[in-house]
Amino acid sequence: MLTDIEIAQATTPQHISEIAEKAGVPESYLEMYGTNKAKVDYNLLKDEEHTPGKLILVTAINPTPAGEGKTTTTVGLADALAKQGKNVVVALREPSLGPVFGIKGGAAGGGYAQVVPMEDINLHFTGDFHAISAANNLLAALLDAHIHNGNELGIDVRKITWKRVVDMNDRQLRNIVDGLGGKAHGVPREDGFDITVASEVMAIFCLATSITDLKERLGRIVVGYTYDDKPVTAHDLHAEGAMTALLKDALKPNLVQTLEGTPAFVHGGPFANIAHGCNSIMATRMAMALGDYCVTEAGFGADLGAEKFLDIKCRLAGLKPDAVVVVATVRALKNHGGVAKADLNEENLEALEAGLPNLLQHVENITQVYKLPCVVAINAFPTDTKAELDLVEAKCRELGVNVALSEVWAKGGEGGQALATEVVRLCAEGDAEGRSAETFEFSYGDDLTLAEKIEAIAKRIYHADGVVFEPAAKKELAQLEALGFGGMPVCMAKTQYSFSDDAAKLGAPRGFTVTVRQVKVSAGAGFVVALTGSIMTMPGLGKSPAAFKIDVDENGKISGLF
Ligand code: ADP
Ligand code: MG
Repeated sequence: MLTDIEIAQATTPQHISEIAEKAGVPESYLEMYGTNKAKVDYNLLKDEEHTPGKLILVTAINPTPAGEGKTTTTVGLADALAKQGKNVVVALREPSLGPVFGIKGGAAGGGYAQVVPMEDINLHFTGDFHAISAANNLLAALLDAHIHNGNELGIDVRKITWKRVVDMNDRQLRNIVDGLGGKAHGVPREDGFDITVASEVMAIFCLATSITDLKERLGRIVVGYTYDDKPVTAHDLHAEGAMTALLKDALKPNLVQTLEGTPAFVHGGPFANIAHGCNSIMATRMAMALGDYCVTEAGFGADLGAEKFLDIKCRLAGLKPDAVVVVATVRALKNHGGVAKADLNEENLEALEAGLPNLLQHVENITQVYKLPCVVAINAFPTDTKAELDLVEAKCRELGVNVALSEVWAKGGEGGQALATEVVRLCAEGDAEGRSAETFEFSYGDDLTLAEKIEAIAKRIYHADGVVFEPAAKKELAQLEALGFGGMPVCMAKTQYSFSDDAAKLGAPRGFTVTVRQVKVSAGAGFVVALTGSIMTMPGLGKSPAAFKIDVDENGKISGLF
């Protein structure tokens, strides 16, 4: 069997100008980065009137070590729609170098459903993440210089929340002391690095609706607090203009193509725990402007990724999805049903059935809470047996859940015809109960308190009995409400493996509470982050990371990337 990179390298991509033409990008807005990548100027959205196309969100059951294939399904569904003659554009996140060199690998899809050039997309691409790191670190440098040069604002160095970032899994930098070396070399303080994708600049970048909006949001970033507990913003440090200057080209969505020549925007990539986990609003808007259908992906499972896509991104951008695809695999469902990773290759119908409640609860959330039409995509793996695939399909049908087998990993767009047909139907007619983009509701209203919003998500989406706020979180909630941040949506930082805040509770757990440990504002992004458990914002590398296998030959051809 060929690896993802071998499949990707075996196809000859079309010149990106042909892809741009297919997508309807006027030449004057196209900025070429070589022959197979380009940026599209955001002024296209400002200058020209477009009727937005249908928006299709691809999400999934709770992830397991068995893999789900959201990106693969997103790309394959788009190719399947294109095969049906539809004008379709993909919108995806950009991969971070951390996971590429760590254990997860790249994020450009898999098998015959990939975006290319996968090597470039996975390895710093058009430099957007470097620009974001630079903007983030400029703010950090301005902050420490301000303190060094007299600290006119009275910033309490013990209450600095802004960190420097690097796009690498580098645990050595997690906790550091800097500013050492004596009076001329800064003010010593405890500090630390995050990975670039965890930077609030990344979240802001992905939520910005224009370059001006980007600048205003950057200005609102809270970097720390004064001795008398007043927030200090990037604007107070005169940082937002220069930060925006660093980001002005990065903000232009990157155009690439799928293996089958479908136009795809790959742009921005925030964490899906402390941030909202989906590609830029710029890219989604552009894909919707150019395509009659935009297929996009949200990170992790639907409890985190879709919840934030719907409650944060759609709320802030005024978007309404037309259909939601929930990806499930037989392997992952068996894992939810109690089978260990090592035994997932064996047929096990009992375990499969036992794992189904995880899928059904995600479907129920989409249809009953968000009131959106939904279809389950069973992402077929080579190890799945016919009996297993049939069982999932039969159980879904029995419960009135729309379902389609997807074989896009093995067959590309041809393998996604049933899914594409169902998606087109849902976009055109809504579902049998009358759900459509028009019936879309958020899971909580803007007017609830922050604590009530967190409770709404925990009860309605996670199916928890309630929320326990630790004393520190209670205090922070009161502070944030008092500072005027109470109207913002909340961004839940929770394990992706379970509906609950305990990674070991698989399936559809009941009888649990969610514990909120800490609450903090991402004022520029425009949400309040609620942290449950300990969330890692600077991962580390393992003993045998993916980096060991990555190589390049004398012709510059890369191998070992997956
Ligand atoms: P996600 O977006 O949910 O993280 P991806 O689409 O990136 O998942 O897929 C993760 C990995 O699983 C990729 O390496 C991909 O090649 C593999 N994969 C996805 N779907 C299948 C499938 N149907 N059969 C075999 N491998 C698959
Ligand atoms: Mg993905």
